[in-house]
Amino acid sequence: MNIIKQKAINLLETALGKSGTVLAIRAWEPATFFEVDVHFPEMDMSGWKRVQHIKVKVAPGVYRDYTPAGWDEDIRTCTLYINAEQHGPGSHWIRSLREGDSITYVGVGPTAHGPSMAAEMVILGDMSSIGHYLALQQLAGPRKLTGAITIEDENHREEFKEYFNWNIQPVRKTDMGGLTSMLKWTKDKPLAHSNVYISGHIPTCIRLRKELKKREDSPRGIHVQGFWS
Ligand SMILES: Cc1cc2nc3c(=O)[nH]c(=O)nc-3n(C[C@H](O)[C@H](O)[C@H](O)COP(=O)(O)OP(=O)(O)OC[C@H]3O[C@@H](n4cnc5c(N)ncnc54)[C@H](O)[C@@H]3O)c2cc1C
Repeated sequence: MNIIKQKAINLLETALGKSGTVLAIRAWEPATFFEVDVHFPEMDMSGWKRVQHIKVKVAPGVYRDYTPAGWDEDIRTCTLYINAEQHGPGSHWIRSLREGDSITYVGVGPTAHGPSMAAEMVILGDMSSIGHYLALQQLAGPRKLTGAITIEDENHREEFKEYFNWNIQPVRKTDMGGLTSMLKWTKDKPLAHSNVYISGHIPTCIRLRKELKKREDSPRGIHVQGFWS
């Protein structure tokens, strides 16, 4: 990184950077997926109407987006669900994070996804979307989401079923973004009265949206939030 960019980032961090403390970390088996409980004393969660994301510092001058889920606005804690199957600064950072560590983030902002009161909510995505959809479920309250999360590792699919008492099905991921499994899962599902939420691998989100729009019973709404490419 050049010196000017580094200086600009340092200024931004000084002006906007806030921090949180890691309360606990749980790794799934194999350890390529992590649940991180964090206390963010300066994060006001009381007005959240949409799923949020935060930009977390994962290396000097490097930030990655993660989703606060399972938040408690009174004690300002939440859980981040972080996928680390890939090789990148974010996945390296999460593998080295320990209880008691400090997390720096700049800003909290809303995503394109919020609960729909008018139609059934069907969610589709990969493991990077787990926290995002847990957050959507929290915002939706007692209204049940249905849908599928694509997961490559068999044991992770088992852990998903075991840990979440949730109407969401873990399905086997057979390609990079999980397109084949999501198309298979949606094939026999009536969607005309649904709002479909798609997130994860950006090219997959775009293809899936196109395919769902072509259906005779095309969904009432299709809301895409791309995560990575
Ligand atoms: C609004 C928003 C919210 C997000 N919330 C979360 C969240 O809660 N949890 C979470 O895990 N991620 C979340 N993401 C995605 C996360 O920010 C990216 O996946 C991030 O790029 C991963 O960073 P990295 O440094 O590990 O890999 P990168 O350096 O970005 O990428 C390295 C390589 O890995 C590939 N790659 C990146 N992400 C994945 C992935 N998930 N699976 C497989 N391959 C991948 C890339 O194509 C690239 O080739 C969110 C993204 C956005 C935009």
